[in-house]
Amino acid sequence: MKDDFGLPYIGTGDLLRKHKDDGTELGREAGGYMEKGDLVPDGLVIRMILEEVEEKGDDGFLLDGYPRSAGQAEALADALEENGRHLTAALLIEADDETVIRRLSGRRQCIKSGHLYHVDFDPPKNEDGYCDIDGTRLFQREDDKPDTIRKRLATYHDKTEPLIDYYEERGLLRRFDGTREPNVVHGHVRATLATLRLEERL
Ligand SMILES: [Zn+2]
Repeated sequence: MKDDFGLPYIGTGDLLRKHKDDGTELGREAGGYMEKGDLVPDGLVIRMILEEVEEKGDDGFLLDGYPRSAGQAEALADALEENGRHLTAALLIEADDETVIRRLSGRRQCIKSGHLYHVDFDPPKNEDGYCDIDGTRLFQREDDKPDTIRKRLATYHDKTEPLIDYYEERGLLRRFDGTREPNVVHGHVRATLATLRLEERL
């Protein structure tokens, strides 16, 4: 989507890492919470998002990994509004829990650079268990182990699923069948975004 539309991608995980690595003031503040094992407060994450939006998002932006609860959605909407911005759509890619578990538990990542593979859908071409690009070993992230995935799904159903109603009520929700082939889902999302962009410019 980033390449299709030239939209900046704002992933909150990447954003936190970037701020920490660059040693920014926001990064140091966030690091303090993370070292204690606490969640980074919403206000801090939203300040990072707004900074990106201001810097790169004149013509729109893609937000990934945030918000994850109705409270976060409201805080984000307020913050955007104060800056004269708003969300155009919330994309819901739907898949049942078993499909999610099968897909995530097959994910592998290389030790050196985090290049991603999948044991079924995108295995390494050179040697099993090793990265094609830098030759380092692949491992399964703690996040992608079946037990952890089940816990993440429980949190999703409890905290994040209410966002479906939240965005539906505001007319922003767009649904996609995430059990289809990746290129099919990609095509559907792309068509929807293209339409939304046209409407925004009319
Ligand atoms: Zn690699």
